[in-house]
Amino acid sequence: MQNAGTTTGRKDSDSLLAHAQLIENASVARASVIGNVINLAACGALLLYYGAINTVTAGIGVLLLLAIVGWRLTTTAQIAASSPDDKRIPAWHQRMTVVGAALGGFWGGITYLILASNVHAMELVGGMIGAGMMSAGAMAFRTLRRGALGYILLCGTGGAAGLLTIGETPAYVSLALLACYLVVLSTNIIATSNRFDRAHGRELELSEAADTIQILLNDLTEQGSEWLLEVDAMGRIQNPCEKLIAFTGKSSDELTALPFGRLLNEGPEQDRLKQFFRDGKIIRRHLLSLTVDGQKKWLSLSARPTAGGRSGYRGVVTDMTAQRHAEERVSFLAHYDTLTRLPNRILFNDNVSTALKRHHGKIAIMYLDLDNFKTINDTLGHPVGDSVLAEVARRIESAIGTHDLASRFGGDEFVVLVSGSRTEKVDHLAATIMKELSAPIVVDEVVIEASCSIGIAIGPDDGDTADCLIRKADLALYAAKSEGRGQALHFLPEMDEAVRARRSIESDLRNALRNGEFEVHYQPMVDVETSVVCGFEALVRWNHPERGLIMPNSFISIAEDSGLIVPLGEWVIRQAIADAALWPDPVIVSINLSPVQLRSAALVGILMQAAAHNGISPERVCLEITESVLMQDSEANIQVLHKLRDFGMKISLDDFGTGYSSLNYLRTFPFSKIKIDRCFVSEIEENRECQSIVRSVIALAGSLGMTTIAEGIERQTQADLLRAEGCAELQGFLYSQAVPADQVSSYFETGRAKLATG
Ligand code: C2E
Ligand code: CA
Ligand code: CA
Repeated sequence: MQNAGTTTGRKDSDSLLAHAQLIENASVARASVIGNVINLAACGALLLYYGAINTVTAGIGVLLLLAIVGWRLTTTAQIAASSPDDKRIPAWHQRMTVVGAALGGFWGGITYLILASNVHAMELVGGMIGAGMMSAGAMAFRTLRRGALGYILLCGTGGAAGLLTIGETPAYVSLALLACYLVVLSTNIIATSNRFDRAHGRELELSEAADTIQILLNDLTEQGSEWLLEVDAMGRIQNPCEKLIAFTGKSSDELTALPFGRLLNEGPEQDRLKQFFRDGKIIRRHLLSLTVDGQKKWLSLSARPTAGGRSGYRGVVTDMTAQRHAEERVSFLAHYDTLTRLPNRILFNDNVSTALKRHHGKIAIMYLDLDNFKTINDTLGHPVGDSVLAEVARRIESAIGTHDLASRFGGDEFVVLVSGSRTEKVDHLAATIMKELSAPIVVDEVVIEASCSIGIAIGPDDGDTADCLIRKADLALYAAKSEGRGQALHFLPEMDEAVRARRSIESDLRNALRNGEFEVHYQPMVDVETSVVCGFEALVRWNHPERGLIMPNSFISIAEDSGLIVPLGEWVIRQAIADAALWPDPVIVSINLSPVQLRSAALVGILMQAAAHNGISPERVCLEITESVLMQDSEANIQVLHKLRDFGMKISLDDFGTGYSSLNYLRTFPFSKIKIDRCFVSEIEENRECQSIVRSVIALAGSLGMTTIAEGIERQTQADLLRAEGCAELQGFLYSQAVPADQVSSYFETGRAKLATG
């Protein structure tokens, strides 16, 4: 295929050359014909005058020449109108060889007649005509080698024959000279025609190269993100290409003669471009931006001045928009949190360092963390968690305004930088953020209550570097969380120690179960009607070898985070059921289950096995779960709860009223019992709203066939009010705190089983 292509290519260039040779010859044809006619008129007149020819011969001669030049002119006209791929080119070549030879023969004949006329005065003319016509013809036919050689050969032969008729010494000398001319002329013809061929070949190559470049450029312009740009000496766009039209969103008419600078956004880059234009300097990959329909675009311009800048610039424009976006994206990813679009730790630290310098160390750092984010994430799923974080970020930003800077450090940790005189208002700012975040967040129709804790560190007292201040704010946050969440605390030097202690709890927890450091305490639940203890809630305690008794609020969430809650919960289940097996029937044991435990496949088996092993009726086991269990994987969790219920165990809804959208969850599962949260109880005496909530919960539970228990009863008045509202069971310090297992039996001794309820 390639060979065929090359052959075709050579054929093409051969015919191009042949055509060019003919065209070159045709370009002088008219002048040459006029020369022929004038020469013939002069020679004919002389020959007739001296009687060398008669009028008939003269007439034949004229007709002969007219026939030859007529043929030449018609052929020439066809050639001039033809294209290089004309099929007649070889035929024309042959015809022009014949024409050349014919003309040569004609003028050779005329020269012969003049020289042979024996008129002495005519010898001069013969010499002139012979030499003149020979070189003129050679010139005219120089590109058609065969025609030219034929011409001079025949023309010279005529001349030579004429000289021989003279037969004198000057004639022989002239003959020798003629032979010389013939040699010189023919080598000249060959050289000239070769030069023409070579020159034409070069021209052809050049134009082919130009074609190739044009094709490549067109290709580049059409396919790629680059195109050609041409501006005149005034910097006005010339011949805007399709790409530029598309890129700028302007029409060809709008772009033509529009100063290029007008397209661009103003700025130092555009000024530098103007300077380049003014100085006539080469422009190399100069980055410029423009705004099209409100969207910023980038281009890179490489251009060089045409004619030294006097006639403008020509160059290549590259669309850099995608690349810039990619670069910006990379830089964004390196410096911003993609979820909330807040600066990340790296960028934030930079800003803190800058602010420290600018405000001479007078800055404040607020370290903030959501109190219940883990539950939200675990129970509602990560997509909801993400939406919550995005909303939290938005609220923090709206609370701090534009003066201060918020950042997300990952997870649910946010950090705020407050600078200069605003540092004095940091407490107010913390309060505003907490208030903003306490408003319910609605995601996918689920109402989520979030709250946060904040740790505050203020420079220069708490530290003079970004790292130090952020670390101290983190410590203060840790303290705020350990002290019951939902508050903002300033850093205090002793917090360092407290945090170290808490961190060591985290690591101690791993060995605690193996070392048997846990114990279960029991808090009685009292039947309102009979004032008899009807059950006990199992509450785990950690008997730490150094720290003493640790309450579950200090370690349950850590155990949940580390997954330790599963083995710990299993241990509590086995322990509580074993203890309860010793209590009189029908006293029940109520066991708290964390959402993490419900997700464990082994749970049902463990509970059934523990009940069977201890010979306790499943009806005497109550399981306390919170609403969060019903939110994530609720289908699977509800199935587990159904299995347990079918097995005979009771299911109680704990902390009722504190969760998300409480009432809805009462319909998702047939609970045995609802536990009204302590927060309603603590305010029931003075808060009418609490009273009405408690009343409706009790009524609702009744209508759904569930019983109610209220927890956190500390005062008799609370117990009285709840009994009046119809609450079935009560639990709280009023009756007893949680006690070790060995003290439970005392409640069954005569006289102690009944508790005074007023
Ligand atoms: P909870 O399920 O709401 O348990 C009731 C908590 O209220 C217990 O705290 C109890 O001591 C306390 N309490 C009872 N009566 C009163 C009162 O009159 N006034 C006040 N102020 N508090 C009262 P405790 O034992 O510190 O347990 C805290 C939480 O730890 C429990 O809250 C429960 O959610 C969790 N927890 C305890 N044991 C376990 C367990 O074995 N497994 C799981 N998953 N969670 C547990
Ligand atoms: Ca409970
Ligand atoms: Ca509770």
